[in-house]
Amino acid sequence: MAALSAVPMIGTSCTSSTPKPLPKGGKLRMRFYPYTNEMAHTFTISGFSRNSTQIILIEITYEGVTGYGEAALPPYMAGQTLETATAFLQQVDLSRFDDPFMTDDILDYVDGIAPGMTCAKCGVDIALHDLIGKLCGLPLWRMWGYNPTHTPCTSFTIGMDTREMIIQKTKEAEPYKILKVKLGSTEENDKMIISTIREVTDKPIVIDANQGWKDKYYALDMINWLYERGVQMIEQPMPKTVFDDMAWITERSPLPTYGDESCQRLVDIPKLQGVFNGINIKLIKCTGLREANKMITTARSLGMHVMIGCTTETSCSISAAAQISPKVDFADIDGNLLITNDCFSGMKIIDGKITLNDLPGIGATKL
Ligand code: MG
Repeated sequence: MAALSAVPMIGTSCTSSTPKPLPKGGKLRMRFYPYTNEMAHTFTISGFSRNSTQIILIEITYEGVTGYGEAALPPYMAGQTLETATAFLQQVDLSRFDDPFMTDDILDYVDGIAPGMTCAKCGVDIALHDLIGKLCGLPLWRMWGYNPTHTPCTSFTIGMDTREMIIQKTKEAEPYKILKVKLGSTEENDKMIISTIREVTDKPIVIDANQGWKDKYYALDMINWLYERGVQMIEQPMPKTVFDDMAWITERSPLPTYGDESCQRLVDIPKLQGVFNGINIKLIKCTGLREANKMITTARSLGMHVMIGCTTETSCSISAAAQISPKVDFADIDGNLLITNDCFSGMKIIDGKITLNDLPGIGATKL
């Protein structure tokens, strides 16, 4: 029992041997400001191309302790821009709360302010979780009882590009053990990308087609072609609402299929059973860590696989996502590695593997 009682539940005293009183009686304060993540290379996926990603940094302070969060706003999050996310955050009044450990009450309130706006809600969720971890002096993985040795390797993403750039990017990915390759354009281009990578390395590859293929017979032919070239899984080959054709592909695919654009929040998961083998959870899609943990439990209960993904984010969001990575099958949390002006340090990739630190909260430090 002694070992069990050393793992605190949120809202309780943090250690059994030396109870440390948690601060009480203060008010939660939130501030936020825009920042631009500059990317090392132009990043192209099926449908979008960009050189930077707009983000909003969020700080929640309680009794002199500050938690940090990030709301990344990539262009594929429809309707979520710097303007709309700022307007949403201006409506968030955390001064009505005097106990940061009432995370359910606080995040229910934030989620209820307006529909959608998942990126901004995610930023608040991350900052709040970082805050309660810091108030307890514990990393979130420890508060949740997750084993840090169970973290997976992260894949390293290679966007669509010319043959010369694919060769260069594949060589730059040398420290990483799995490559995540973006496909979903023409058959000629998709096959050129994979063949070019295979000239450089035999590493495992995972594929994200970002809804780029429109015909189920073509998609299955491509999946079989990829399977023969050492590919390990396929993410979102078809448009997000094409469930019948996707279920047909999943039934016949030699590779496990994962839904990303088809799976935004917890409520989406039950209808994806049988459509995909697994889901891709991203904090900006699902409003953050609170719901991500529920999604893992729900997907597992339905016999589905789970991966954790990201967008081009700082080490703030990436370190937050890393906290739940001991519970997933695949991880693609390399977004901080694709930017040149990361304003946080945090989770490190060591020998390709996500390596959690002992810092409290999300395990990230503002630079
Ligand atoms: Mg994806």
